Amino acid sequence: MNLNDQSRILNFIGGQWLEPSSGEFLENVNPATGEIYGQIANANNQDVQLAVDAAKNAFTTWSVSTPEFRFKILNNIAELIDAHLDELALAETTDNGKPLWLSKRVDIPRASSNFRFFATSIMHFATESHVMEDKAINYTARQPIGVVGCISPWNLPLYLFTWKIAPALAAGNCVIAKPSEVTPLTGFLLSKICKEAGLPDGVLNILHGTGDSCGAAIVAHPEIKAISFTGSTRAGAHIASVAAPRFKKLSLELGGKNPNIIFADCDWEKMMRTTVQSSFSNQGQICLCGSRILIEKSIYEKFKHEFVERVKKLTVGDPLDENSKQGAVVSKLHFDKVMGCIQLAKDEGGTILCGGEVVKPEGRCAQGYFIQPTVIEGLPSTCRTNMEEIFGPVVTLQSFETEEEALQLANCSDYGLAATVWTQDISKANRVVLKINSGIVWVNCWLLRDLRTPFGGVKNSGVGREGGWDALRFFTEPKNICVEI
Ligand code: NAD
Repeated sequence: MNLNDQSRILNFIGGQWLEPSSGEFLENVNPATGEIYGQIANANNQDVQLAVDAAKNAFTTWSVSTPEFRFKILNNIAELIDAHLDELALAETTDNGKPLWLSKRVDIPRASSNFRFFATSIMHFATESHVMEDKAINYTARQPIGVVGCISPWNLPLYLFTWKIAPALAAGNCVIAKPSEVTPLTGFLLSKICKEAGLPDGVLNILHGTGDSCGAAIVAHPEIKAISFTGSTRAGAHIASVAAPRFKKLSLELGGKNPNIIFADCDWEKMMRTTVQSSFSNQGQICLCGSRILIEKSIYEKFKHEFVERVKKLTVGDPLDENSKQGAVVSKLHFDKVMGCIQLAKDEGGTILCGGEVVKPEGRCAQGYFIQPTVIEGLPSTCRTNMEEIFGPVVTLQSFETEEEALQLANCSDYGLAATVWTQDISKANRVVLKINSGIVWVNCWLLRDLRTPFGGVKNSGVGREGGWDALRFFTEPKNICVEI
C-alpha cells in the first residue's frame, strides 16, 4: 500500500479510484505554507449515482454478514491506521495546519479508536423485548438502513470522518462518505487502508468535492436514506430543509459558542491549565472549545492577568516544529473570517488583552495563515462577538456575581453544544449542570471523552446524538415484531 501518493485525490467508488465524471479538480492547499500541493476530485451527482449503485450492490452481502465478520474487518482497519500513524499524522498536518504532535497524539489515534470501538460494539449490540403478560411478546429487530451518507468538516478531519463511518459500517450499512474539501487527504488515504484491510468493494465509497456539488448530491439522492452530518449550523439548516421532505433520518452535529463557568472556589492551577487548552487547542477550531469564559467577579482580575500571561507564551509557528503550541488556521478563507471577527470585536468596543494580530513565521511558513491567540474583554453578552461562532483562536472574558447570573450568561446563546464548570463545591456543580442548556457538560475537566456517552448539542448546535449505542441506533431501523402467545 502506497500512502505517499497524495497529489491527486480521486473518488473511491466500488473499490476503485476513479476520476470525477466532470473532469473537474479543486486545489489542495497547505495552510501553513500557502502552497498548492495537490488536486482534489470534485464529484457531482453522476459520481454519487455510481457510488450508490456500488453501495446497493454491496449491501446485499454486507448487511447480512455476521457481526464477527464486520468486527474483524473494522478491527483490521484500526490496526492499519495505527501501523501508519506517522504518515497519516503528517498528511493531516499538511492538509489542516495543526501541529504534528497534535495529529500524532490526538487525531490519528482517535481515528483508530473509533474503528476499534464500533468493531467491538457491534459484537455486544442487543435489542429490546416487551412482554405483555400472558398475551404476547414484542421484540425489536434493529436492521441496517441501507445506503447512508456521512459528511464531515475540516477541523478534526480523520477523527470525525471515522466517528461516523465506523458505526455506520458496523451496523451493516453501506456508506457514501465525503470528507471536507478543505482537508480531504486522510479521507483519501483511508480508502487505501480499507482496501488493504479487506473491506469488500462498494461497502464504503469515499467521494470528494464541494458541499454544493458532492455534498448536495449525497443529501438529495433518493436512495440514501440517512444523513449523518457534522459542520456549520448554516449548512446543517440547509441539509435539514432538503432531507426533511424526503423523510431521511438525520443526525446534525453543528456549531457552538461554549461557555466556561469559573467559580472562585475552583482548583486554580488545574482550571488555568485546562482553560488555556480549552480555548486554544487546535487553534480554537474544535467545536467543543470554550469561547466565552465566564469568571466569578471576585477572581476576575486575578484570572485575567494570569490567563493572559499564559496565553502570550503559546508559541505560534511551523506545525512541524515540536515547539509550536499553535499551528496555522485551516485556510485563507477561514483566516480572513477570524481576522474579520477580531475587527468586529474592536468595532463593538472590546479591548484586546493579548493577540489580535497576524503571525508571519520566518522560513517555509512565511506565507501561511497564522493568528495570535486572542483574548478580549469588555463586551456585552449579547453582542455579535459573544453570540456568533468564530471557530478560531479567539475567546472573550465576562464576569458574573451569582450562580443565577452565570447561568443567564451561559444560556443566552443560540447554541447549546458543550459547557465547562469549575468549582470544588459538588452541590453547586450539580445544581448548575442541570440548568445549563447544552448536550455536554464537563465539571473540572475538558474534552475527557468516553466513546460510550451520548455526544451532541441542543438549540442551533444540532439534533441527535452520536457515540455508543446512540450511533448504532441511529444507523439502524427499529422494527417491532409482536407475537401472540
Ligand atoms: P461546513 O458546514 O462548511 O462544511 C462541513 C461539511 O459539509 C463539508 O464536507 C462541506 O463540504 C459539506 N457541505 C457544505 N455545504 C453543504 C451542503 N449544502 N450540502 C451537503 N454538504 C455540505 O463546516 P466546516 O467549515 O467544514 O466546519 C466547521 C463547522 O463545523 C463549525 O461550525 C463547527 O462548530 C462545526 N463542527 C461541529 C462539530 C460537532 O460535533 N457539533 C464538530 C466539528 C465541527
